[in-house]
Order: sequence, then structure tokens, then C-alpha cells
Amino acid sequence: MSETSNRASNFITNIIDADLDSGKHTSIQTRFPPEPNGYLHIGHAKSICLNFGIANDYQGKCNLRFDDTNPEKEDIDYVNSIQKDVQWLGFQWDGDVRYSSDYFDRLYGYAVELIEKGLAYVDFLTPDEIREYRGTLQKPGKNSPYRDTSVDENLTHFEKMKNGEYKEGECCLRAKVDMASSFMCMRDPVLYRVKFAHHHQTGDKWCIYPMYDFTHCISDAIEGITHSLCTLEFQDNRRIYDWIIENISIECTPRQYEFSRLNLEYTVMSKRKLNTLVEQNLVSGWDDPRMPTIAGFRRRGYTPASIREFCKRIGVTKMDNTIEMGVLESAVREDLNESAPRAMAVLDPIKVVIENYPEAQVETLNIKNHPNDESQGSREVPFSRELYIEAEDFREEANKKYKRLVLDKAVRLRGAYVITATRCDKDDEGNVTTVYCTYDPNTLGKNPEDGTKPKGVIHWVSAEQSLPAEIRLYDRLFTVPNPGGEEDFTKVINPESLVVLSNARVEPYLAQAKPEQAFQFERQGYFCLDNKDGSADKLVFNRTVGLRDTWAKIGD
Ligand code: ATP
Ligand code: MG
Repeated sequence: MSETSNRASNFITNIIDADLDSGKHTSIQTRFPPEPNGYLHIGHAKSICLNFGIANDYQGKCNLRFDDTNPEKEDIDYVNSIQKDVQWLGFQWDGDVRYSSDYFDRLYGYAVELIEKGLAYVDFLTPDEIREYRGTLQKPGKNSPYRDTSVDENLTHFEKMKNGEYKEGECCLRAKVDMASSFMCMRDPVLYRVKFAHHHQTGDKWCIYPMYDFTHCISDAIEGITHSLCTLEFQDNRRIYDWIIENISIECTPRQYEFSRLNLEYTVMSKRKLNTLVEQNLVSGWDDPRMPTIAGFRRRGYTPASIREFCKRIGVTKMDNTIEMGVLESAVREDLNESAPRAMAVLDPIKVVIENYPEAQVETLNIKNHPNDESQGSREVPFSRELYIEAEDFREEANKKYKRLVLDKAVRLRGAYVITATRCDKDDEGNVTTVYCTYDPNTLGKNPEDGTKPKGVIHWVSAEQSLPAEIRLYDRLFTVPNPGGEEDFTKVINPESLVVLSNARVEPYLAQAKPEQAFQFERQGYFCLDNKDGSADKLVFNRTVGLRDTWAKIGD
């Protein structure tokens, strides 16, 4: 699909290139292994773009494998949403969706093999004792008294574990590695625990479930994964990954490589924290447009291309860092600037009456949909005596910097005429409610004949023909760059992360907007029709991103 010149290049592709050159591999197989215990977030997008991107670039294959060994936390809703999100991002896995649970029988067989080789044992220490026996980084662990139980006894115990004859926590299967290892994960890691839990794929077939360290490497080997890419926190676990593969009878020897996680400012990324936001109703759901989930970004109006571009820009390294939100926002802004048709929407309307315009007249203006893309054509926009403009676009008096409508001054209405404000009405509180103007009929598409070129251009809609709309303005969900570092991250939610404007008016052409379809509302930003609450009958638009970075440091 991609041209060679377009290929990402990073320390992982260097390893792959070397493996292909040396003949170690002739084809590349990767996998994306989410645990179905939440919706995918933008961090997962980094992993998806990496794994599927490599498969595309090297004409290899990438599997989608659900790492489903914690039945209590997992759910079929997550399984479905994850598939949808991967496809929406523009990727397709090789063959059928896979599940670690597809391999439960084989995993069981490999556990028996380790027992038979004297490399695994059933331990009856309590969980507290196991922790105590494990030691610390400073202090070596000590052997469990059950470590030297005979192979036959261990086989019997393990079988009984499988048959449900032991209670949860009563015993577990452990690898016999090295209780004095400087890598804690090598101090006889647990391979299987008893759990009487219903599983979304295997039902009630199993009451023992394999642990991540045992499952992941074997699943990789079964699928013929060549390069198993994961995040840095699994660096130490690479030892147990290799130990298990070396000690079981399996042909393939996948290799694990670690890269740094994506961290983004002003948001949280762990599924546990995201789940808290959903559970405590601090957001409207996993797809709330303020969530850093793929479903949230999608609903907010981000495009798959902009998220892929973002992942390309941040690159893949082993260095831990935190990316500014502006990097993500500029990726979507650049994409939408090129692709999104323009439209006019007045978010906070006041009325304009053009007193020298004929009362019943409605004129149809033709306005280009995109300033630089002729192929997007044009649309019809009704113009009439009564219009709406933004309240903030009118002042009775203003200095020269204010290039909008001011009493006795002229301004251009985008795509229409030049008008001059003559007087205004106010309510009891002094808010302007109506601005009275005159228009110059000779200024459609040209400057006034007297040579007075108006300084500003403002947007507008016809009062009668425009449609009511609800506009949802989103901002960063948290007030601090690193909410995860707070004692309680739910206490630093930005109270202005969602502002709902319910009196907005939009031009009639927006009635045709499709869910998630993006528009640039002139002078306001990029918006899309909400994919849940929006329809032709009830226009609800989400602000994807503003026209420029309002969070950028002063001085820009
Ligand atoms: P979380 O900590 O957010 O719950 P996780 O690592 O437990 O994430 P998994 O479903 O196990 O979530 O992750 C699937 C894949 O996505 C793994 O390979 C994991 O390393 C990768 N991944 C998860 N979070 C990030 C991130 N922030 N940046 C890059 N890759 C990530
Ligand atoms: Mg995980």
C-alpha cells in the first residue's frame, strides 16, 4: 500500500531490516493485542499504527488478538468496540479475529510440559506468603516449601486445579526459575490461578486462567509472530517471555521489543482511570468527545487520517515523554483545513435589520465551499432583510483594531454585501438585541464605488431561512497538564470542558450534514454533526478544534 519512501523509519524498522537482510526472517508478522477491558485510546492508536503500519510497509501481516485472560474485567461490548475502532482507523487484521482464549487448551498442555520437565509446580502458599517469600529488590526471595514437590504430585494437583477441586487463592501454578534473580519477574512467576469466573468466549469451561506472562509469549509463538512489540513497562518481562519459549516444545521463537508509551498532556490514558470517568458519570460515556478514546475523537470530529498523521509525527522511540495536545490538534486542523467544506453558523446570535433592503425579498447567493479547492463547488445561501450575526461582532464604539461591525462604520458580510450600522436596540440590561444597518447594493463581489474598502469581514445567516442548532464547545478535560500525577485526578476536571450553546443558527445547507461530517464554520473552527444526538431534525454540532491554537504560549 505505502510507497517505500513513505515508510516509517525507527529503531524497530531497523531491527526488521537487519532481520530480513540476514535471512533470519523472510516475512514479517506482527500483532495488536488489546485486553478487552475498555475502549481503545489514543495510546493504543500509536501501537495500532506501529503494528499495522509495519505489516503494510513490509507486505507482512498483522493479527488482532484479544488478550482475554482476565474474564472478570472483560466484556463483549469492548471486544466489538475495539474491532470497530481498528477498522475506523483504516486497518484490517489478517484473517479472523484471534483470542488468547482460543489457545487455552494448548496453554494447558504447555503448562503440563513444564511440570513434566520439573520447571513448574503447584504452590499452596497463601497470596500473602507468596508476596513475603518473593523478597524485594534489595533482598533475594526464598524458595516455597512446595517447590520441590514431585512431578507426579504436581501433575495431580494441577489437574485438580483444572477440575475445580481447589478454591480461589488456595493454590497456583508457578514456574521454577530463580528466587534470587535480580529481575523480580523471574522469581518463580505465577503461571495459572484459580478463578471461578464466566468467560465471554469460553463460558464456564475453565476455572483456571493463565497469566499474561505465560499467555502472551505462547500466543505469539502459536501465531508465528516475528516481532512482538509492546510498551516499555514490559522490558523486564522479556526475560520470562524468552524463558518460557525456550523451555516448551514450540518451533517459532518470536522476539519482544519495547517502545515508549504515548503520554498526552491534559488527559489521562489508563483504562482504569478512563473507566472511573465513565463509572462516576464525569463524562457521558466512553465516546464522550472529551475522552482520549478513539470513539471519543471520532465523535468529536477527528479523522482517521489525522490520527495516523499524529502517530507518524510523534514517532517510535524508547524515550519516555509527554506530547503536547497541540501536536494532535494541529494534525486534525491541517487535515480539515484541506478537506472540510466551509459553512456559516452564528453561535451567539443578535439580529441585524437592513432597513433599505426590500421586505419580502430573498436573494440566493452562490458561495464557494472551499477557498482553494474548486472541486468542492459552491452552495446556495439565502440573503434577506433580517440576518443574524455574532453578538461579539458588533460594538457601538471600538478602536481601529476591532475590524467588525461598529456604529457608522462599514463591514463586509462574507460572500455578500457591505453594510453600515446606523443604530441599535438594547434590552433592560443593556445588551444589544438588534442592529439596524443599511446595505450598498453595488457591493456584491466588489468594493464600494466611493473607494472605502471595509476593513473586516464577518459571517452571518438569514434570520428566516437559517436553522436552529445546538453547538457543543469542547475543551481540554483537565485543568492541569498531568492529571494522572494528582492525588485525585477527578478533582481537576475542567468545568468548561463542555459548553453548550443552544441558540445557534446555521445556514440551511447544513441540514444535509451527515453524522461525523466535518465543516469549517467560518471564523469559528471545525465542527461535525454529533453521531449520537444529531440529525436533520435536530442539528447538534461538536467543535472538533478551533481555527488556531488558543493554548499556545503568548508571544505566538
Ligand atoms: P492501559 O494501561 O491504558 O489500560 P494496556 O497496556 O493495559 O493499557 P492493552 O489493551 O493491554 O492496554 O494494550 C494493547 C496494546 O496497546 C499493548 O501492546 C500496549 O503496550 C499498547 N498500548 C497501551 N497503551 C499505550 C500507550 N499509551 N502508548 C502506546 N502503546 C500503548
Ligand atoms: Mg493491560
